[in-house]
Amino acid sequence: MKILVVNDDGIYAEGLWALVEELRQVSKILVVAPDREQSGIGTAVSLHRPLRINKMRPLIAGIETYAVEGTPADGVILALKYIAKDKVDLVFSGINKGSNLGHDVLISGTVGAALQGYFYQLPSIAISAAHNGKAQFGVAAKLARLLAERLQNETVLDHFLWSINLPDLPLDQIKGIEVTKLGRRSYGEEVKGRRRPGGQRSHYWILRETPCEDGEQGTDIWAVRNGKISITPLQTDLTGSSPAYLDDFCRPLLQGLRQSLG
Ligand code: MN
Repeated sequence: MKILVVNDDGIYAEGLWALVEELRQVSKILVVAPDREQSGIGTAVSLHRPLRINKMRPLIAGIETYAVEGTPADGVILALKYIAKDKVDLVFSGINKGSNLGHDVLISGTVGAALQGYFYQLPSIAISAAHNGKAQFGVAAKLARLLAERLQNETVLDHFLWSINLPDLPLDQIKGIEVTKLGRRSYGEEVKGRRRPGGQRSHYWILRETPCEDGEQGTDIWAVRNGKISITPLQTDLTGSSPAYLDDFCRPLLQGLRQSLG
């Protein structure tokens, strides 16, 4: 078995190497990660600039390691289409420093990288650890290893996309493990302006420090807030349910276009 390990926190992130340390006990590992922090870059793929790949000295001896001057998703595409000499069986993205819950999966580079693995028909797992000071990467890494061992023993490995989140707790305080659905927002944004000495506002920061409450039972947000490990299976069909008025609302538009352009 060969596992591709990626992340969005960058090639030197502690969570990445905690994950590699465990996964290398059960599989060959290829690490392809962004050369710098790319959190919040989501599913972005670089189509309008060249990409560099740098072979790196790994932080754990013997691990084939590359840093990509690009996004997490770029890294997965380069790994699967160019770098990997033999077949990759599984993609792990993480361990992200911080949760990726609810709507945040749509801006998460950690999930964005796993999504590319899923597009390439591979079982792909994004794994994130909540942190209030010190993230519990050890527990998350052990869980990843157990999953990899189980998946290795499955005879039929269909592709899937999972997002796993761990609470910021030592193992003996973790209260359970739940298969969940996505909650809604886990954070609200604040915009803070910084002034130049002259008094003009010169630049702005989008800050995500305000947690939103989504206590609905069965969601990923609920699980992590209640000290449980959350496993959310994801799918890529974002189609919404069509409200009854939409058809009547849209059908006359072509007629209107013909009248205004005719
Ligand atoms: Mn991150």
